Amino acid sequence: MSKKSAFLFFLILLLNSTLPAAEKKLTVVTTLFPLYDFARNIGQDKVAVTLLLPPGIEAHSYEPSAGDVLKVSGAEIFIYTSKLMEPWAEKFVRGVDSNKLLVVEAGEYFTAKDPHTWLDFSKALAMVNRIRDAFIAKDVANKFFYLATAKQYNKMLTDLDAEYQKTLVGCQNKVLIHGGHFAFGYLAQRYRLRYIAAYKGFSPEAEPTPRNLAELVDTIKQYKVKYIFYEELISPRVAEVLAQETGAQLLKLSAAHNLTRKELDRGVSFIEIMKANLENLKKGLLCQ
Ligand SMILES: [Zn+2]
Repeated sequence: MSKKSAFLFFLILLLNSTLPAAEKKLTVVTTLFPLYDFARNIGQDKVAVTLLLPPGIEAHSYEPSAGDVLKVSGAEIFIYTSKLMEPWAEKFVRGVDSNKLLVVEAGEYFTAKDPHTWLDFSKALAMVNRIRDAFIAKDVANKFFYLATAKQYNKMLTDLDAEYQKTLVGCQNKVLIHGGHFAFGYLAQRYRLRYIAAYKGFSPEAEPTPRNLAELVDTIKQYKVKYIFYEELISPRVAEVLAQETGAQLLKLSAAHNLTRKELDRGVSFIEIMKANLENLKKGLLCQ
């Protein structure tokens, strides 16, 4: 051994014996933004969470790439919403070559047709608990940490739910007209609003027909609706047409499937988005 390599050898020995081993983080990949935000709130510094969907991508029409398979191969936990929301997920995980991967279908107990389970905050809470349990299963050493952070997050969701209840009970207008796809059915049901979406399906793939739009214009006029809501990440063209035809104004209502690059960089949270939605609902439905 040369002098130089002997020196390096001892340096490495010294470093290994004096530095604590870097704490190994649990590696988690999630599909949609709500799951990503729940996971990072529960995991905090114990967990490295990756959002699979690229920023700004519409979630319902997403198709995973070969790179996505690689990303998940290196992870310990893969979290998706449900077979309804990510119909590609089951086949996708079969293609992942890993014997350590725990697959979590966070919304699997909600078997209705509507995949937007995170927009009913009681269902969101159940999803948080499933994520918590998966973290504990893979990293039992931090069990009490995950129990505490999940409890904290559950409290934020129940507070949010109470704020929605309190605000939306006092609205003059109970008809929520949405120039987007049918994403807010659970939310409307929970707070006793009548929900009418321009797109007939649970995904934005099938655009409304001219006849659908003409009917909706009549409904808007009939209920004297002053504000129409548009959704995130898809073109608000349908909502704009409705507004032009009726003189109504536009307000944003984000279902938070995914975020833009800018929003992600700003660190926007699920709770923040839902609070902004409530502000717009309050304005648009004329709540006290
Ligand atoms: Zn959707």
